[in-house]
Order: sequence, then C-alpha cells, then structure tokens
Amino acid sequence: MKYSALALLRGALAAQRNWAQAWRSPEPRASYDVVIVGGGGHGLAAAYYLAKNHGVTNVAVIERGWLGGGNTGRNTTVVRSNYLFPESARLYDFALRLYEDLGRELNFNVMLSQRGHLMLAHSRHDLESMSRWVNTMQMHGIDAALVSREEVGAFAPALDLSPAARLPVLGGFRQARAGTARHDAVAWGYARAASALGVDLIQECEVTGFLKDGAGGVTGVETARGPIRAGRVALAAAGHSSVLARLAGFRLPVTSYALQAMVTEPVKPRLDTVVISPGTGVYVSQSDKGEMVIGGSLDLFASYAQRGSFAVMQSVLAGTLALFPSFSRLRVMRQWAGIVDVVHDSSPIIGPTPVPGLYINCGWGTGGFKAIPAGGWTLAHVLATGRNHELAEPFQLERFASGRFIDEAAAAGIAH
Ligand SMILES: Cc1cc2nc3c(=O)[nH]c(=O)nc-3n(C[C@H](O)[C@H](O)[C@H](O)COP(=O)(O)OP(=O)(O)OC[C@H]3O[C@@H](n4cnc5c(N)ncnc54)[C@H](O)[C@@H]3O)c2cc1C
Repeated sequence: MKYSALALLRGALAAQRNWAQAWRSPEPRASYDVVIVGGGGHGLAAAYYLAKNHGVTNVAVIERGWLGGGNTGRNTTVVRSNYLFPESARLYDFALRLYEDLGRELNFNVMLSQRGHLMLAHSRHDLESMSRWVNTMQMHGIDAALVSREEVGAFAPALDLSPAARLPVLGGFRQARAGTARHDAVAWGYARAASALGVDLIQECEVTGFLKDGAGGVTGVETARGPIRAGRVALAAAGHSSVLARLAGFRLPVTSYALQAMVTEPVKPRLDTVVISPGTGVYVSQSDKGEMVIGGSLDLFASYAQRGSFAVMQSVLAGTLALFPSFSRLRVMRQWAGIVDVVHDSSPIIGPTPVPGLYINCGWGTGGFKAIPAGGWTLAHVLATGRNHELAEPFQLERFASGRFIDEAAAAGIAH
C-alpha cells in the first residue's frame, strides 16, 4: 500500500480500518540465500539494498527482540557528516545524501529535519582545531562553516553567552545540512520496504550459534526457533557483535559500553539546531514534540546492562545546565541507555570476517544512526558481490593487523 495524502483521505473515509500491516511476519524458512542477524537500522537497510540494488530477495533478517528495539530506537537521532578523514567524510556524507531522499525512496516519512549542527568552541585551542576541521571538510566538498560568538547566539539564543558563563563560548563550527531524523521511522521505513520486496523479517528469534561445514565456513545459524541454513550470513548486532563473533569462532576488537540519553518535559520551540559542546561531551536538541533531547558521554566501564549509571547522568545534566541555565526549570521525563559497540579508532568495521561465509557490520559506537543508509548499502554490496564496496574498503577488520587506523575520536563527538 502506497502511503500518500490520498491514502490518508481514503483511510479517513473508512474510519482508518483499511490500513494493511506495514510488514509481513512470516514463519522462518529452512534456508535463505542470505541471513542477516540483527533487525536494527543497519541490518534492515542491508536487507532492503540487497533486494533493491542487487535483486537478492531470498533474505531473512533475524532479530531477537523487536525491529529497531536496539540502539536504532534508543539514539538521539542526530545526522551529520562532519568527519575529519577523507575515508570517513566520504562514507558519512554518502549516508547523509541518501538520508536527504530517504522519505521518498522508502515512501515513509523519516522526518529528516536539516536544522544544522553547531559545535561550540570553548577555548582558542578549540577554535584552531575547528578551523582545520572546517577547511578539511570544505576540501572534501562537504558544507561546513566557522561561526562567530555572535552567530552562535543567533543560532541558539538559549545558550549562556554572558561573560560570567561557566563555559565561555568563543565561537563554533556549523554544518547546515546536518540535523535530526526520526529513529523509529528509519527502522520501520526500511523494514516495510524490504518486506514489500520479499525479505522475511523474523522477530523474537535469538541467534544462538552458527552452522558450519567441514572446512569451518558458516552455512547457517542456530536460532531459538531452530536451525536456518544460509548461503551467506551477516552480523549487524551492534553491542552484541563480539558475543556473536565469539560463537562464530573469532575475536573482535570491540568493547561494549552503555550510552545513555534523556528527555525533558516538552516545551514550546526554544532550540532550533543541534548544539554540542565537545568540552563537556554534552549535546542537546529539541524534538518535534518539544522535549529537550540530551546526550553525553559513555559510561566508561564495559557493560551489557542496558541502563546507564547515575553518576554519568548527573555529569551530563551538570554540563547541560552550564550551557543552558534556563533549562534548570525543566523536569527530566525519561532516561534510557543502549549498548554501543566501540572500536578504539572510533570507526566502523564493514566486510568479511576470518570465518568464510560470515560478514560483519559493526563498530559504529556512539554514532551509527547517521550512517544507517551507507552501512546498509555497503554491507549489501559485499554480501551480493563478495567484493567490498569502495567506500567500505578502508573499514576492514584487517586494519587491526596492518595498523591503518582511521582515528575519528574527535569527530565521534562525545567522550570515548
Ligand atoms: C543513547 C544513544 C544515543 C545515540 N545517539 C546517536 C546519534 O544522535 N546519532 C548517531 O548517528 N548515532 C547515535 N547513537 C548510535 C546509534 O544508535 C547506533 O550506532 C546505531 O543505531 C547502530 O545501529 P545497528 O543497526 O548497528 O544496531 P542496533 O539498532 O542496536 O541493532 C542491533 C540488533 O541486533 C539484535 N541482536 C543482538 N544480538 C542478537 C542475536 N543473538 N540474535 C538476534 N538479534 C540480535 C539486537 O536486538 C538489535 O535489535 C546513539 C546510541 C545511543 C545508545
């Protein structure tokens, strides 16, 4: 069913009883050409692009919970492509360009709001490193601009720019095409479009092991609902990637941490851009509902407990109030966490693994929502063709043996 204003009108005339289910929920088949483990944004996007770009439709996405219930449904929805190194700039800007047309492509409103992303400079050193960063982005053909203290005030009037402010603001750097997109809608949009092309989406079905042939190659997965054979298997399981890798027989250089976020009660429009303060690790935007969406640094101890510690929440809120003292009157309504897959150079891993037949997309850490279209596109490419996509070539697992790291710790935005 195509979503449109006309469909909405027809729905209204039929008391909204004519809507079809957004995606099918089939029983798993005994075998598929490709099985993707993880029904987050990257797994669902890979399934969609396998079908759409490569005509591979005998595909299943196996999700242990519900679609988009992992980090994809827990993030703070920021999309941007302000990365420093050419490899990352190309990958993340490709993702942002796909985002710019995603609503039309999927026939699903992903609520992309290009309200800009403003990074604050609290010192002369910040200003100098930002000018280098802006120059580099401009050389890569990506929009970026240094902004003065006065311009910062015009973009975000709620910031404390007074001389007595605890964190002085000297200026900043802005990417105008950045902004936010609705996280659930991205997962649901890809799920619906993939299902319509024939992909089976299997929820509440945990992958518990791998089927292998005599030579050690993967030939399928063991699941809570029985074995499923597959020509190729891909892992897109974020914070649980290393658990699955161990089951498959190899180690990943990934550490899993809780990353938390919170929202305040909704208020009238007060903040019309995404503001990040690298000095405190805090970033804030206002949702379409009016809530202030607040994120910050990782809980810096490895954990699979999906909640987040009080100490980090307290320091994130202290940083927020130093920037926006007027927000002290808002009540925090909800707080939650996701388990993110942090790699020590803060760059993803996309491609084959040491186990034949097994591919991986992980290591997005604190910033993989913005990359979902590109992560899915490049994973689909290697699954369909057996060759890395050129954008994914620098992001191979092999870089941990060769030492060709792409250290994006600063562009990852928040304290790692
Ligand atoms: C609080 C927070 C704020 C963030 N803010 C931003 C942001 O503003 N911008 C940004 O770009 N990124 C942000 N991120 C990061 C971003 O959310 C992730 O990098 C991205 O969503 C990862 O997508 P994914 O599809 O790889 O993982 P997920 O969405 O986590 O999907 C992985 C799926 O695998 C499933 N799974 C795991 N193990 C198994 C198994 N054994 N069997 C079957 N299924 C399994 C999980 O249930 C899960 O649904 C944030 C993350 C958090 C937690």
